[in-house]
Amino acid sequence: MALPTPGEEREFRAFMTGLRRRNPHETEFHQAVAEVVESVLPWYLQHDNLRQSQILERVTEPDRIISFRVTWETDSGEIRANRAWRVQFNHALGPYKGGLRFHPSVNQSILKFLGFEQIFKNSLTGLPMGGAKGGANFNPKGKSDREVMRFCQSLMTELHRHIGEDTDVPAGDIGVGGREISYLFGQYMRLENRWSGVLTGKGLSFGGSAVRKEATGWGCVYFCEEMLRQLGDSLEGKRVSVSGSGNVALYAAQKLMEHRSKVVTLSDSRGFLHFPDGLKEEHWEQIRSAKEEKRAPLSSLSDLGNYYPEAKPWAVPCDIAMPCATQNELDVKDAQKLLENKVFAVCEGANMPVTHEAASLFHEKGILHAPGKASNAGGVAVSGLEQSQNAMRLSWSRGEVDQRLRGIMSEIHARCLSDGTTGEGPVNYIKGANLAGFKKVAEAMLAYGAV
Ligand code: NDP
Repeated sequence: MALPTPGEEREFRAFMTGLRRRNPHETEFHQAVAEVVESVLPWYLQHDNLRQSQILERVTEPDRIISFRVTWETDSGEIRANRAWRVQFNHALGPYKGGLRFHPSVNQSILKFLGFEQIFKNSLTGLPMGGAKGGANFNPKGKSDREVMRFCQSLMTELHRHIGEDTDVPAGDIGVGGREISYLFGQYMRLENRWSGVLTGKGLSFGGSAVRKEATGWGCVYFCEEMLRQLGDSLEGKRVSVSGSGNVALYAAQKLMEHRSKVVTLSDSRGFLHFPDGLKEEHWEQIRSAKEEKRAPLSSLSDLGNYYPEAKPWAVPCDIAMPCATQNELDVKDAQKLLENKVFAVCEGANMPVTHEAASLFHEKGILHAPGKASNAGGVAVSGLEQSQNAMRLSWSRGEVDQRLRGIMSEIHARCLSDGTTGEGPVNYIKGANLAGFKKVAEAMLAYGAV
């Protein structure tokens, strides 16, 4: 995806060289920044005031990164230590907001890429939220509930001094669901001796919002519905290949079935399940309970479809690909297989699941491609609604939150259209999302002066 003029291309290369030098070895962060800068640079270069204020240099430098050791004890009395971070990236638009990820692959580069994406995603929602991300290189798999509890308590013992309902409000992400948020929230209250909406994704009985669990997956489907409506089409009868079988994937699959789409795959880190006739509702519930409650692998459900170990789902013919597992899970070879099978849209449930090369190929072939910062923003949007409900000390019904979620996804889609419609060719959702998200943040940073 080269820039339109040689001058812009030169500026882009110079900027990225500097960024790589300042942030060596952080490849995921470089990738996320390159995608945004590529989209916004032509507009940015037309605004001398932004250049003079070095908005691009400043928005790619986190406000701060807190890094700390988390020491905890296993059930058998052994001491373990992990590394945790909170990347408070930018709070121009509101208190820092973004999830916590527990996964052995977590490092500073991954959290910086996620925190950076979060700035523009949160901006797109129209809610007052800044961008942040955090997590630890802790693997919750195979740990007992008590071990996870001790880990969460130890992590919060440090994290609590850096967060607050008007400062920074973490939520869940990979490896951090309702169980982890509850342990973290319990420890925060114990340390602070007060109840506040300092975390989102809480249980319904203690300040959580209706539809938060479903919000990212459902929101992704609402966004996809808007993309198709724009073409005078609908989701009905479309074959959708979904990857992952965690929070995002499960509820995306549920909503797709409600729209009478055919969900042809689900996957996890060990393989994928193919449903030649589409996933059935009764099987969805079996998969949800296995993954969400028993934390079992998909291989234990091979009677529900054709199971392929150590494989990705992208060779299965589909009309729409919905990657909902993790970053860079769909590479250029996968993109080629999807194109051979005549895929026409890619709607990201995960954050940056498509590699840069694969995204360029989709762009070249005129495939509609919604980036996660637009299509998966439903999760953080309902988190924002959870914060509002907590601040007002009330809770809205499922119907009310769902209606607001639909409205927000439709507004995000409209923002993408307004900055991503070029007049020729299909809507460029990547450019639209990056530009619409960036403009608001840049405007606020400019207004604040040199801070
Ligand atoms: P979960 O932990 O609930 O599920 C993650 C799923 O992805 C699991 O099925 C997991 O398999 C699979 N997975 C993880 N790592 C890999 C890998 N390296 N290769 C293949 N599969 C993998 O996470 P979420 O559903 O919450 O998050 C999924 C994505 O969506 C992430 O990119 C996250 O950042 C993004 N996201 C999440 C939001 C939320 O509200 N939860 C909001 C916005 C974005 P296994 O079960 O084997 O571990």
